[in-house]
Amino acid sequence: MSPRLTALTTFCAVAFAVLATLAVAMYASDAVTERQQRQQIDVFSRRALLRAELVTAEAEAALRQLAPYGGTPCTNDHLQRLRQAEEQFRYIREAGWTDGVRLRCTSLQGPIDVALPPPTWTFGDGFTAWHTETGGPGNERSMLNVRFGNHVVVIDSRFYLDIVPLDDTIELAMLETQDAAVISRWAHAGHDLVRAALRRESASEYFQGRYYVVERSRRYPIAVVAYEPEDRLRANLLGQIRNVLPPAFVVSAFGTWLVMRWRRKLRTPRNALLEGIRRHQFVAWMQPLVSLETGRCVGAEALVRWKLEDGTMVAPDTFIPMAESLGLIEPITDQVVRSVFEGVGTALANRRDLHVSINLAGGDLACTRVLDTLKTCLAKYAVRPEQIWFEVIERTLVDTATSAPVLETYRAAGHRVFIDDFGTGYSSLSYLQALPVDGIKLDRSFLRSFLRSFATGEETNKIVPHIIEMAHSLGLMMVAEGVETQAQARYLRAHGVQYAQGWLYAKAMPADEFLRYLQHEAAATGNA
Ligand code: C2E
Ligand code: MG
Ligand code: MG
Repeated sequence: MSPRLTALTTFCAVAFAVLATLAVAMYASDAVTERQQRQQIDVFSRRALLRAELVTAEAEAALRQLAPYGGTPCTNDHLQRLRQAEEQFRYIREAGWTDGVRLRCTSLQGPIDVALPPPTWTFGDGFTAWHTETGGPGNERSMLNVRFGNHVVVIDSRFYLDIVPLDDTIELAMLETQDAAVISRWAHAGHDLVRAALRRESASEYFQGRYYVVERSRRYPIAVVAYEPEDRLRANLLGQIRNVLPPAFVVSAFGTWLVMRWRRKLRTPRNALLEGIRRHQFVAWMQPLVSLETGRCVGAEALVRWKLEDGTMVAPDTFIPMAESLGLIEPITDQVVRSVFEGVGTALANRRDLHVSINLAGGDLACTRVLDTLKTCLAKYAVRPEQIWFEVIERTLVDTATSAPVLETYRAAGHRVFIDDFGTGYSSLSYLQALPVDGIKLDRSFLRSFLRSFATGEETNKIVPHIIEMAHSLGLMMVAEGVETQAQARYLRAHGVQYAQGWLYAKAMPADEFLRYLQHEAAATGNA
């Protein structure tokens, strides 16, 4: 994954985490707030109902007190009794007497003669009620007249709901429950809304964008309806998230920066290599090895490549020394061996004249683990041991007493062993005699400087011919690395060097490409 894509993915993950956390926190806090709000409205409506019941009870008490009056109606004595009732009961504005058809006298007006309106509400054992409007324009007031027997009391409707509001949005109304007639309501309470709420089943619920609570009285056929706008209780979660988006974006960006920094810190060479091993990112590429005598490919050197997740290929010079010093070379060599067989195992089984040369590091020589891995692969792909060669860098073989027996183990298993990068080590040529090897690979840099001087005609470097001569005399095979020109190839052939490897023939390539290379060569030779 490219760093930009990693940063983007991290940002998305962090942003998701931040928003999800915020959403959960907001949801939880909204749920708590809503529950508290609902409880407050419940308590408020119960208080309102208590108040309404108190006023109703007072009207009932006043009427029951007046009912037994046995004197002549509307006399001074009777009017006196009516006034006493008006004064005694706080919410009674006026008390009067009716003959059942007309109102004959009241505590305020004395004897009168007014037609009795038809009752709009009947409750309890013989109570009836109706509304009248009093006051001038702009000062209209709705009065509730309650009658029991021949007496009538008048109550200002506002008394029923005369309590301190919970907040500036709550609305309240009091209704009678038989016909859902509104007895009293606050100025902005919707007449139809409260009636509709009363008719619904539930005692408290959301509908039409409001939260309603209906409190029904057990003593009287009355109920109180309180309601609040829904958004007062339930916050708009989406809206809230939209509001927190900009700060969440900033927090996510900062979080991403921290995560990336932390990742960079974690990405030590050791961790990176371990990750590569875990993900099997080490693959073997092939560089053809050519017989200088026939010009034909006789095999290939397996050169490891670290294939990163984003497709980048890392050259071995940058990580092999690091893997060696961190003690991680063995699992990498194992992956190279397996990769060789996965890539060209079948081709090797089909062409016994081909071999693959595998590089070994100092760490690989400490045990025979590579041989164990190899044994399994050889059996699986039916490849012969002599088709696998090994290259060991000269400087890892300095201690001949310990390295000689190890190399012998490899040779005893049927493999050929070459000294790689010959000429760059510290040892003298004579130590070749003490090592059980099949041949040497002349280092490319070494060879290059010699062949350059050779090309110019002045033989400034006399070691190369000497090495070749020495190898011949010791009966060792020779591979020349880094052959880039025909002149170099000609020189090496003329001096009896058997094999060459270099860009003159081909660069290192993935296994499938190498297989195509072999096919082309076979086809070309067949045509020739
Ligand atoms: P080496 O084993 O000497 O491999 C030969 C190197 O020379 C390769 O470099 C190859 O690409 C390069 N080369 C081949 N022909 C030419 C040419 O004509 N001109 C020039 N300028 N260069 C040429 P590469 O693949 O980068 O490998 C570098 C070194 O990494 C190898 O040197 C070897 O020491 C080490 N290495 C590669 N694969 C492995 C492995 O699987 N295990 C271990 N332990 N070391 C490995
Ligand atoms: Mg090599
Ligand atoms: Mg080499």
